[in-house]
Amino acid sequence: MPELPEVEVIRRGLAARLVGRRFLKVSASDKPLRQQSPLSFLQSRLAGNRLTAVKRKGKYLLFILEDGSTLLVHLGMTGRLMVGEPGALATLPHVHLRVSLDNGLELVFQDVRRFGRVLLFEPGVPIAPLAQVGRDPFSRAVTAAWLAGEARGRLRPLKNFLLDGRILAGLGNIYACEILFAAGLHPETPAGRLSLKDWERVLKETRRILAKAIRRGGTTVNDYLNSQGETGLFQFELMVYGRAGEPCRVCGTPIRRLVQAGRSTFFCPACQKLKRRGRQNITTKTPRH
Ligand SMILES: [Zn+2]
Repeated sequence: MPELPEVEVIRRGLAARLVGRRFLKVSASDKPLRQQSPLSFLQSRLAGNRLTAVKRKGKYLLFILEDGSTLLVHLGMTGRLMVGEPGALATLPHVHLRVSLDNGLELVFQDVRRFGRVLLFEPGVPIAPLAQVGRDPFSRAVTAAWLAGEARGRLRPLKNFLLDGRILAGLGNIYACEILFAAGLHPETPAGRLSLKDWERVLKETRRILAKAIRRGGTTVNDYLNSQGETGLFQFELMVYGRAGEPCRVCGTPIRRLVQAGRSTFFCPACQKLKRRGRQNITTKTPRH
């Protein structure tokens, strides 16, 4: 599943190739995506409309059109957006939407599992799905103090806190594992037990790792490809993700795997400390004796 860096790499690739282009014709397969605006609506709003910007919020891509409409795209589990010559894309399987461009190229949405979302919002219509999206890790509104405030009093494991897209948008399983390793924090540490200094480290590592992954073109572990059909390279720099049983690259201790909220967590039991005590007050039920 693409996470923030992969979506950002796709955004940059699409922006470079599509901004200023006019959309012409839209066609769709007979199998709709999980959430998809009706084809007639897409066709009526997109045809002849020029793209002015491609933005991102969390893992959502926003195609901003010159009439003020927004085409909102979420890649879901296996969605891919690609731009190319219609001939080269004609035989691609699992293509659900095709949009022809005024320069003869085509933008296609390919999605094997069809969990993707393509929704068009007319000018002035609130983009409801974005209301659930938390703050972007690169936003200035994200500070160590804000994170500490969000985590205050929470016993929820730190890993699950990082994965909660309503707080920090766009972090998935791979990067959450890598960030916690880099910050030296055990994934089961209750989020409310971190000090402000810990949150400063978590935020610094979050931004460092995401920025590095974007520079490497993202991480390809399953089937992520950028808008030109290329894989990312960050998978060669993963410290813990997918490495259960292999030696820690820092201390040699075998990397362990545990399951948290149904997802695999990879961590080094020696490098990542479990903080049992914290300065912040945590409300817990006191056993009665
Ligand atoms: Zn280690």
